[in-house]
Amino acid sequence: MRTADYLARLKSADWLLRDETQALFGVLDGDARRTRAVGGVVRDTLLGRPRGHADIDLATELRPNEVAKRVEQAGGTAHPTGIEHGTVTLRLGNLIAEVTTLREDVETDGRRAQVRFGTDWARDASRRDFTLNALYADAGGDLFDPLGGLDDCIAGRVRFIGNPQHRIEEDRLRVFRFFRFSASHGGERFDPEGLEACTDWAGRLDTVSAERIGAEFKRMLALPRIATTFRTMAETGILALSDETLRLLQAYERRARRPDISARLALVVAETGSDRLKALWRLSNDDIESARAILTVAELAREFRLNEAAYRHPAALADGVEIASVMAGWTDAGRSAVLEELQALEVPRFPLAGDDLIRMGMKPGKALGEELDRLEQLWIESRFALDRDELLARARER
Ligand code: ATP
Ligand code: MG
Repeated sequence: MRTADYLARLKSADWLLRDETQALFGVLDGDARRTRAVGGVVRDTLLGRPRGHADIDLATELRPNEVAKRVEQAGGTAHPTGIEHGTVTLRLGNLIAEVTTLREDVETDGRRAQVRFGTDWARDASRRDFTLNALYADAGGDLFDPLGGLDDCIAGRVRFIGNPQHRIEEDRLRVFRFFRFSASHGGERFDPEGLEACTDWAGRLDTVSAERIGAEFKRMLALPRIATTFRTMAETGILALSDETLRLLQAYERRARRPDISARLALVVAETGSDRLKALWRLSNDDIESARAILTVAELAREFRLNEAAYRHPAALADGVEIASVMAGWTDAGRSAVLEELQALEVPRFPLAGDDLIRMGMKPGKALGEELDRLEQLWIESRFALDRDELLARARER
């Protein structure tokens, strides 16, 4: 494809031609190029890649207060989300945009930069992390590319802007972003200079918060391919995972039709432990619970206790079987047989309820709940063979 074809995509991009986007550019002096779109939306439009969300990032010469005032006058809302960095989140109609005033670094302490506002676009570009992220589009869809990012973007080269060592020293989160973008936009090939700098910093990443690290890992786990990247991160000492887990992640990725975050998380949890991983990556209860459910299903499926798996965690069934198949090294035929069996499965319904026990003379309350749980467990252990009468008989025996 010729460069002109990439550029044409920008001119005809849906998000750019939308009324709200054009209105926003109108309000923020876009015609005079005082405001431009930047980052992911520009990069992915050039590459013709669909984005999961419609949010856009803008850079502007206008001061944050001025941005807020103009957008509110135009009927939108403005929230100062990172005022010390000059970032305002705008909503105009159903467009959401993060607008950041051009800034210039003054000093840094390894994570936070002191900034003052500026009007120098080339400097704004040089403060960004990778050349493919320093691409701008103006209101008319013309590209502004002060650092030659387009060539890198097309070639899938994730290159630090400036000296990688210095850029990591300023902000160590960039190590994780380097791996994430190399996975999402670099075909899991790593710029040698960037990789070397990341390796040097591997033991000194403790200034990055667990939240930020976790957010990066969650985004990595959602990518179509990540296993090679995780292996590289493990080799450089940035990710503590055993060869066996890395091998399982690779096998899962090869096998799964659409790799799933929770299923991959389940493989990591199996090695790291759910409490530890939860703290390390600040995962939510939901994240951990889905991973654990998948592991439970995987264990049950390996013992061919499919009924029980289906009963306990219906939502985790398909992913659990996939994970079981890589853990146990099932053949394709074996895995298909299990999946077929699952299709035909009727998930049983527990044949008792609280009322049954009340009719037997139990009082509503905690003890009743516990007795019901006990009977349900007996029923699961019988592989659902115990029927209603048999279960009631067990209740009476107590
Ligand atoms: P995506 O939203 O698809 O992950 P993005 O490139 O938009 O990709 P964001 O995290 O939304 O990524 O950041 C927007 C832009 O801000 C980036 O493209 C980059 O130019 C700049 N940026 C973000 N984080 C950093 C950082 N830690 N150091 C330097 N520049 C950064
Ligand atoms: Mg973005």
